[in-house]
Amino acid sequence: MKQIILSVAALALVTACETSSGDYTQESKADIQLYAMNCGHISSPDFAIFGSEGEYDGKAAELAVMCFLIRHPAGDFLWDTGMADALNALPDGQVIDGGAVLTVPVTLESQINSLGLNFEDIEYFSVSHAHFDHVGNVGKLTNSTLLVQEAEYDHMFAEGEAVFVNRDLLAPLKNNKTVKFTGDHDVFGDGRVVITSAPGHTPGHSVLFVDLANEGPVYLTGDLFHQERSRTEKIVPVINFSKPQTLASIELFEANVTARNARVIIQHSVEEQERLPTLPAFLD
Ligand SMILES: [Zn+2]
Repeated sequence: MKQIILSVAALALVTACETSSGDYTQESKADIQLYAMNCGHISSPDFAIFGSEGEYDGKAAELAVMCFLIRHPAGDFLWDTGMADALNALPDGQVIDGGAVLTVPVTLESQINSLGLNFEDIEYFSVSHAHFDHVGNVGKLTNSTLLVQEAEYDHMFAEGEAVFVNRDLLAPLKNNKTVKFTGDHDVFGDGRVVITSAPGHTPGHSVLFVDLANEGPVYLTGDLFHQERSRTEKIVPVINFSKPQTLASIELFEANVTARNARVIIQHSVEEQERLPTLPAFLD
């Protein structure tokens, strides 16, 4: 009798799995939306430090700053938080060392609100790395779980100065519910949204893989590349934590892009920003 009950239970389990895998392809597959958000703009009069072989010497550059909200049936996930919304109060922006001008023409909060959401509604967030133009609004996400590479978390709170790391912006993160990991992290456990290790720009820098139903596989590059030219010419910034590690990350990244036939979204590319749908439109 016991044997029969076990067999029935096993059969029920197989049937449940078949049903759920059927649902996965028919329904869940189209249930992820990727929203590109304008999280500021950087106008740099001298982009030299973004090329270790002099590639950008004497050149100015315009950089988009993008954040991405991913809406998944199991929760909302914010990838990068851009520059601080507080900069929106400065119409002429803020000038930093080196003469770059930072502007935030529209706040992240207003863009989140325009989708009928508040910061408190976002269950999970992560940042590609600790630099100021990616962590500007982490202090608003007090209700959200931080998903972070252990090496990047250590970099955020290490002793001493680190280039482009603003400890004041990062300090509130110490109070967040936090999941630390090393390597890749599958955000929802179904392989559709995966934080992917790509160290070199910083010790725990990551890119994000998103598997969209209609658009197909997409990679959001964090700061693996700062311009489209940086990707085609494998240009490594002077300021990177490790050039060999960066080049190794680029090799692995490009192999994955080719294997998956993925679209590559360079987060600081103004050209890419112009190609992406603007709110309330999204990729799915
Ligand atoms: Zn950046």
